[in-house]
Amino acid sequence: LKANNARSLWHPMTAPADSLKNAPTIVTGGQGVRITDIDGHEVVDGVGGLWNVNLGYSCQPVKAAIAAQLDRLPYYSIFRGTSNDCVIELAEELRAFFEPDGLTRAFFTSGGSDSVETALRLARQYHKIRGEGGRVKYLSLKKGYHGTHTGGASVNGNANFRTAYEPLLPGCHHIPAPYTYRNPFNETDPARLAQLCLAALEDEIAFQGAGTIAAFIMEPILGAGGVIPPHESFMPRVEAICRKHGILLIADEVITAFGRTGAWTGSRLWGVKPDFACTAKAITNGYFPFGAVMIAEPVAEVFEGDASGKAAIGHGYTYSGHPVGAAAALACLAETKRLNVVENAAARGTQLFRGVQELMARHDIIGDVRGGHGLMTAIELVADRATKAAPDKAIPARVQEAAYRAGAMVRVSGPNIILSPPLVLTAADVEVILSALDAGFRAL
Ligand code: PMP
Repeated sequence: LKANNARSLWHPMTAPADSLKNAPTIVTGGQGVRITDIDGHEVVDGVGGLWNVNLGYSCQPVKAAIAAQLDRLPYYSIFRGTSNDCVIELAEELRAFFEPDGLTRAFFTSGGSDSVETALRLARQYHKIRGEGGRVKYLSLKKGYHGTHTGGASVNGNANFRTAYEPLLPGCHHIPAPYTYRNPFNETDPARLAQLCLAALEDEIAFQGAGTIAAFIMEPILGAGGVIPPHESFMPRVEAICRKHGILLIADEVITAFGRTGAWTGSRLWGVKPDFACTAKAITNGYFPFGAVMIAEPVAEVFEGDASGKAAIGHGYTYSGHPVGAAAALACLAETKRLNVVENAAARGTQLFRGVQELMARHDIIGDVRGGHGLMTAIELVADRATKAAPDKAIPARVQEAAYRAGAMVRVSGPNIILSPPLVLTAADVEVILSALDAGFRAL
């Protein structure tokens, strides 16, 4: 199976030739917070699938809801005068969940990249309907990650995700991220760095002309860029700047919604009310590809009708509001609330973050550790702490491999080891991840 698999599957993010050399770890089972590979090796999933399996792999009510919905109605379109009961019920539940964030309407997608694309497109259309068709540009943060569609790629802050696909959308500009460990200002104080990044944002808006900008998009905590939590002052100030200039604020909550940060949403963590929140991942916990863009009431109202009285929105997917996805999401939401995962995410997140801080005290290869808000943690590796030089490219993968052998799957992203385990893990599971990582560093 291994050889055949590597030959015919084009493994995402890995060149085919490469996957021939490095056969992927073939996962064949998942129970609770553990996965099993083809060789029968069982480990704690420190990655939570891909930041999404918050409830673990054996969530019975979700499986039952999917099976029941498959029996009842496997699919029906929600376009052109039809809908399905399940998706209407889900929209009501999501309205209740996101009400504290000021988000009342749900537009359904098949995943995170679709959700980002939807918000970007609707932001432009919102301005057009209101007679401000000149607002077409987007601002975002360097190191931000917003998916792989062309709009999302254009606002991605990491040039590695853009250059191969250029020319991308014109008019996308990237502001320095509040990344304390490395930034163009050499500022190590998070509050002062936030001020400098905000000043850069104001400068960019002035330079571009506020009336040309449709939206600013950011993750409440930057994820794939290496878990970068901004200073608490940052996102509220971004919100105020956006309001002042008539720029829509898109919160990319594909990772942060549904409890991962130790708050129910990333926007709530910072007390911000965005115009759009892009969600996916934990909305169905990996049990079905699904997403939702949550929209603020005043924004949604602009789409209610154009001059001809017809709904103005001209955007949607075949699988918008897929009933099986909606059934999975309803069950996930109910379990997420019933288990109060947010509380465990906060408590276990603190334990995990303290643990990686202790690892840093013991292993010089660790240059920085970031986290402290729920179960989103990164360990940045360096060749030398004083110069912060990047480590040899093979090093993070070697740590990952040794940690895997010692009992935990962790993720490598550039020089970072990223930890985003299921939110239902126990204190003992956290210790397994930490001791596996310790073994990983000792193996160097
Ligand atoms: N936005 C963010 C913040 C993400 O982390 C991701 C996926 N890692 C996406 C968008 C894209 O989501 P998907 O892979 O489901 O298309």
